[in-house]
Amino acid sequence: MNFLNQQEQIQNGQITKTELITLLQASGSLQQQLFRQAREIRQRYHGDQVVVRGVIEISNYCQKNCNYCAMRATNQKLERYRLGVEQIFAIGTHIKEANIPIIFLQGGQDPHCDPILEEVIPRLKKELNLSVLLCLGEKPREAYQKFAELGADSYILKFETSSPSLYKNIAHTPLLRRLQCIRTLQESGFKVGTGNIVGLPNQTIDSLAEDILLALEIQPDFVSSSPFIPNQDTPLENLPYGDINLTLNTMALYRILLPSCLIPTVSALEKIQKGGQLMGLNAGANVLTINFTPAQCRDKYAIYSKQRFVVSLEHAQQTIKQAGLSSNSFKSPVLMSGGTP
Ligand code: SF4
Repeated sequence: MNFLNQQEQIQNGQITKTELITLLQASGSLQQQLFRQAREIRQRYHGDQVVVRGVIEISNYCQKNCNYCAMRATNQKLERYRLGVEQIFAIGTHIKEANIPIIFLQGGQDPHCDPILEEVIPRLKKELNLSVLLCLGEKPREAYQKFAELGADSYILKFETSSPSLYKNIAHTPLLRRLQCIRTLQESGFKVGTGNIVGLPNQTIDSLAEDILLALEIQPDFVSSSPFIPNQDTPLENLPYGDINLTLNTMALYRILLPSCLIPTVSALEKIQKGGQLMGLNAGANVLTINFTPAQCRDKYAIYSKQRFVVSLEHAQQTIKQAGLSSNSFKSPVLMSGGTP
């Protein structure tokens, strides 16, 4: 099967959901062919460079109550934290010193972070010359526009699932509102990232194919697929992990269908299987995120598990090398000898 022809077909609107469903379930030699095609397209559009970004998880407070996340508002077992301007800026200087060009500020949906961000974003831009990527949930248009005016470059808001009923059951808010936020972010001038979760309860293969079609409709700048991880102290804690092969196949299809997108190989892959992030790079991903959250806060940022896999500089370096790829970020002598603060 020639996926390049399929890419043209899909871009011309000629591929059916049935064909996507077949490719999502690819195994054995068909899967290897899918991954090979994804790597060829990555090479053509992005060369052998992996984009490295440094994440700071700035707050684990959240207004929402997603069933898969221990940071949900009603979880009283979780100790909450919120970083301040000086803490974020100080970690930003470590990210700069490590020669990482992108600072990724991630948090729960926490409006109390907004004034902190309004103060720190201009400093990260002007004093450290970092590219600022945000992932802070659904906010009013004015908040997004303010962040954009202050110099934030990009924003990730995953749609999680294209199924309105599944989304409502899990996140307890309408999918339409989330999709409207994604559109608002694009209209505000952000580069926008989105994506899905694989393995949600009652999710079907048909629904996963719809996820890919939704991503094509959104035309994001970054796109990701993450396996579901059952999270302690949540209503879904006893469910099985999402299927790693379905996740990798989704990533490869995103690469083939949205070739210029940045695609991360997420830490949840490594949580499910040792070497999972390398498998992600081999399926066409080209982004790795290194964790710079202060050690005393990391366990409290229970986005998919308290025992999540925390990506270190060394792990990222090794994974990129094993994939036969490289990163400009690793030319710094500081980075070669350093660790996360
Ligand atoms: S997934 Fe995000 S929005 Fe949902 S509860 Fe967790 S932090 Fe909040």
